[in-house]
Amino acid sequence: MTKSFRVAVLPGDGIGPEVVREAVDLLGRLGELTGLSCHIEEGIFGGAAYEQTGDPLPEETLRLCREADAVLMGAVGGPKWEHLPREKRPETGLLRLRKSLDLYANLRPAVVFESMLKASTLKSEVAEGVDLLVVRELTGGIYFGEKACTRTAEGERASDQLVYHDWEIERIVRKAFELAMLRRKKLTSVDKANVLESSRLWRRVVERLSADYPEVDVEHMLVDNCAMQLVYRPRQFDVIVTENMFGDILSDEAAMLTGSIGMLPSASLGKGRFGLYEPVHGSAPDIAGKGVANPIATILSMAMMLKYSFGCAKEAELVEKAVERALQEGARTADIAGEGEPVLGTRGMAEKIRMHLERLAAEQG
Ligand code: NAD
Repeated sequence: MTKSFRVAVLPGDGIGPEVVREAVDLLGRLGELTGLSCHIEEGIFGGAAYEQTGDPLPEETLRLCREADAVLMGAVGGPKWEHLPREKRPETGLLRLRKSLDLYANLRPAVVFESMLKASTLKSEVAEGVDLLVVRELTGGIYFGEKACTRTAEGERASDQLVYHDWEIERIVRKAFELAMLRRKKLTSVDKANVLESSRLWRRVVERLSADYPEVDVEHMLVDNCAMQLVYRPRQFDVIVTENMFGDILSDEAAMLTGSIGMLPSASLGKGRFGLYEPVHGSAPDIAGKGVANPIATILSMAMMLKYSFGCAKEAELVEKAVERALQEGARTADIAGEGEPVLGTRGMAEKIRMHLERLAAEQG
């Protein structure tokens, strides 16, 4: 019997609806080609939801997400809602959504496609073959610790507390080990154990869990060294796992190895297989409604959903390969086109990817 997956789709604002539409259409075509069955239900979210209900994350949308196997999201926000009080802003809706769904692991892959080598800011021989995954702890650490700002006789004093419990570290590190098992079985745990007590606890937990994954090659790296190694020899990395703030910084650095923000997918995972999948980019109000946005980040986010929430690795690979072939063939949206290269719109790029998906499915019989 074919298993059917429930997907809550939240197009959001700006270019969100444009890029999500293409990813959902491609998912439908993939279903026809492979037998994968998805039940799609759309929810209102972000500025669009505020306009209709006065709340960027209406209860009905949250219920839809909770009942689904995965959430596929576009992006939220825009100048129209910047003046709103904080609790009404689209971005606050997104933070609430992540928190309500208890998504503690953020996954940001950075893959340099051969045909896109020129887009990287690094020399081709350094960027070539990069295929890494940053796994960032998302709900603990210094961003959530106690905060204070006081005025003393000497002037102002501010503090942010960095707290981690062993169970918080354990669940993210275990997730990273499991992801490494699905890849090249190398895990780099990044910390600042020479200075921070929380990092020393982090290391002890990694050491303890490594006994459960004897096939995974584990190394510890200080965060300053990792920042340097990412631009020096990025090919050495497979899976990087780290705490919230280090992960925030390193995932942005790793992302830039690949060139354009329009190509970067992400996943936020919680317990079990449930996950929220979204492009790294925002709602890009400057190009919204023009049909020129690059849909690849959202399409690759959909491929991550197939892999991590549905366990459909083969189907995910079909989508990733179709993207790669379209790029090899020279398909470019404006954000990734070189001087004088022909440019496709959002729909044109998605059509090229669909064509390659159909060819690949036919090749595999
Ligand atoms: P942005 O990512 O929306 O845009 C930055 C630049 O990249 C813009 O020039 C834009 O045109 C370009 N760009 C982004 N995505 C692209 C794509 N798919 N194809 C081609 N070009 C693309 O970041 P911003 O301008 O700082 O933020 C705009 C709005 O988005 C703000 O309201 C911000 O709060 C929101 N935002 C939302 C999310 C999210 O929903 N997860 C993330 C970041 C920013």
